[in-house]
Amino acid sequence: ATPLSITIATGKGARSGILVRDATALETAHRLDTIVVDKTGTVTNGRPVLTDIAPVSGFDANQLLALVASAERDSEHPLAQAIVDAAAERGLHVADATSFDSVTGQGVVAQVGGSNVLVGNRRLLASAGIPVEVLADDLERFAADGKTPMLVAVDRVPAGVVAVADTVKPGSAAAIADLTARGIDVVMMTGDNRTTAAAVAREVGVRRVVAEVRPQHKAREIERLQSEGRVVGMVGDGINDAPALAQADVGLAIGTGTDIAIESSDVTLISGELSGVVTAIDLSRAAMRNIH
Ligand code: ADP
Ligand code: MG
Repeated sequence: ATPLSITIATGKGARSGILVRDATALETAHRLDTIVVDKTGTVTNGRPVLTDIAPVSGFDANQLLALVASAERDSEHPLAQAIVDAAAERGLHVADATSFDSVTGQGVVAQVGGSNVLVGNRRLLASAGIPVEVLADDLERFAADGKTPMLVAVDRVPAGVVAVADTVKPGSAAAIADLTARGIDVVMMTGDNRTTAAAVAREVGVRRVVAEVRPQHKAREIERLQSEGRVVGMVGDGINDAPALAQADVGLAIGTGTDIAIESSDVTLISGELSGVVTAIDLSRAAMRNIH
């Protein structure tokens, strides 16, 4: 049977927008010593917008953007949405891709008007054997600003870099400071590149970052922290985060996130704000004090 103080805490949580699916989550939350937060959509708003177009010589910026938008049109990734929106705003003609493949956690490969177009991270181009040196300076420059660079190759030739930027949620830095003040280690985990991740982490006061994590390895990172004897909470919003949310001692889903993330979690934070994690831990700590 669930102790009365946990039942009361569950009710209090519900009134503050913290939906607890499984009461045992509140019995565990007071023991959490590590919180892993996903970057995109959790620490940030997850609605990136286009900021830069840096074509290599021979390409025009609008021409590059139109090609990239054609390649990204069938992708469901928020990065793709930012590209397609920017092309529409500029009134560019976006052709239909005749073939499209998405490589999870890396990018897209499409056939556009007879050209083969790759848009994605360094790993995507490298695994296709396309040299990225000519794009490296722009990639690093954008990433250092906390933007996400996407490399573009057309018919196996590097064509440029486009960058998008996401904004940090207003409450993220305060929530991370509150967790740290409670003696909890905060770790940010993302598929995004190391430099971008470090810039965002600095902005919100996270000292530990695990970047360039492939979607299928997020759960393994949680397991690795647990094997150090840590009690680990995971906060995430995406399809990519679902296995990690399930693996964590307490999984907390952002309420504005995907259904699969919510279904894989013990707790849903309706507001979508990281401060909900602090509230959940405080409720659990107070409830467990009444029991012991
Ligand atoms: P996150 O952990 O931030 O949700 P993902 O695992 O979805 O990131 O993606 C990791 C990286 O793969 C992105 O930062 C981006 O560089 C690249 N990528 C993923 N999807 C796309 C796409 N549709 N277009 C271009 N690049 C992409
Ligand atoms: Mg996310």
